[in-house]
Amino acid sequence: MAGQLKLYNSLSRQKEVFEPLNPPFVGMYVCGPTVYNNVHLGNLRTFTSFDLIYRWLRYRGYKVRYVRNITDVGHLENDADEGEDKIAKKARLEQLEPMEIVQKYTNGFHEVMSIFGNIPPSIEPTATGHIVEQIQTVQTILAKGLAYEVNGSVYFDVRKFNDVYPYGSLSGRQIDDLVSGTRNLDGQDEKRDALDFALWKKASSEHIMRWPSPWGDGFPGWHLECSVMSSKYLGHRFDIHGGGMDLKFPHHECEIAQNVAASGESKPVQYWLHGNMLTLNGKKMSKSDGNFLLPGDLLSGNHEMLSRAYAPMAIRFFFMQAHYGSTLDLSDDALQAAQKGYKRLSVAFVIASSGQPQTGQDDPGVERWLTASEAAMDDDFNSPVLIAQLFEGAKWLQAAVSGELKLHPKAWQTLSTSFCRFFNEVLGLEPEAGESKGEILQTVMEMVLELRKEVRQKKDWAMSDLIRDRLAQAGIEIKDGKSESTWTLKS
Ligand code: AMP
Ligand code: ZN
Repeated sequence: MAGQLKLYNSLSRQKEVFEPLNPPFVGMYVCGPTVYNNVHLGNLRTFTSFDLIYRWLRYRGYKVRYVRNITDVGHLENDADEGEDKIAKKARLEQLEPMEIVQKYTNGFHEVMSIFGNIPPSIEPTATGHIVEQIQTVQTILAKGLAYEVNGSVYFDVRKFNDVYPYGSLSGRQIDDLVSGTRNLDGQDEKRDALDFALWKKASSEHIMRWPSPWGDGFPGWHLECSVMSSKYLGHRFDIHGGGMDLKFPHHECEIAQNVAASGESKPVQYWLHGNMLTLNGKKMSKSDGNFLLPGDLLSGNHEMLSRAYAPMAIRFFFMQAHYGSTLDLSDDALQAAQKGYKRLSVAFVIASSGQPQTGQDDPGVERWLTASEAAMDDDFNSPVLIAQLFEGAKWLQAAVSGELKLHPKAWQTLSTSFCRFFNEVLGLEPEAGESKGEILQTVMEMVLELRKEVRQKKDWAMSDLIRDRLAQAGIEIKDGKSESTWTLKS
């Protein structure tokens, strides 16, 4: 748990050394999906970015409580304070109960997360499961005089709050700039100020998702659930809060305001981390703009812009090749390159994990390689640099199986163990399952036979025989034909 992990804190706009409040424990909250339709690849990228972060914290020995919510009520259309609830609307369109919609898309979300190798969070609370706590928080904020009730709805008083705490500090917006940038939506007349946002909304008679409250039947505002559930499970001050960049404003700004107002803690979240956007055709991937692809499109290859199907791990590798804080553009060319890169590392992983111990004296600098690989991840989770390191490691592993490098046992041990940990435990990659393990063996054997052919062309019969004998020990039989050699697995 070297104290040298640095992360880019959106709040200070700087890289900072990570110092948890209560080491070795770390509390991390990430905004989860609104379960009213299938997650698209952009959503998946953000969740995968935080999976990488979670994995690295664990690698570094932290005991992480990772909370990621399910938004199953309160997220209105256009992310505004008016309009239909996204889930209720989908229920109407699909002629299902809202909770059937929630279940259906929660199941789908979990399935996608698992196919793409994401570890489930420690706690996955739902907004509808925390209505009581949300009502209590609204009461607390009202009691502090930082909210007001109008006609069964309760709004947060942004200007009053801003007198004691600068609203807008995360997104770098000044309150006066915000005023001119705020649209005058329907129902704004209830608010004292266009900047104010809903903590609790009165349910109109046709609104189906509703709960009794001191202000009549209604439902919580979208921002409230994250404040309430993060502080319930992680405390009024906790270490890390994450989400996509597009949530910085207004969602995260409102979360901060609610947390500060309710608890009086001036810095509820120590490190704000934001994942950058996946783009398609150079524009943010987004359902509402129709500019999106679903994970299933890539897995089936069934889409006009794709030349083939892609394995889930190749797609995960594609995400990992970019830093989580940079935008990433999805294209068929980029996916093809990722598929190739992933395959190369996969083959090296099989070599490393099949663990043929080496007994030579060579060491191309494995300790330095390990230090540099860890340093990459300690530098704000720089997975592209780690991947470059893994390609270097893969070269050594391949040279070791071909006999070009005769690694010292210690160098082999460090290289093979660390390579496997980085590939599998840190990046969350697996060599493709089932028949594709056979595919990997096929690739490795083609390579070995190629190298052996070169050895034979140089008339190094001793090495040629050694390779054959070692493969025989591993249960692989080589038959030398006139021009080509073939291999079979001995039964
Ligand atoms: P939502 O279900 O709309 O609340 O979004 C779930 C998560 O996906 C949030 O953290 C968003 O910031 C994130 N997200 C939405 N669009 C994209 C995108 N194009 N690229 C990356 N993340 C995104
Ligand atoms: Zn949230």
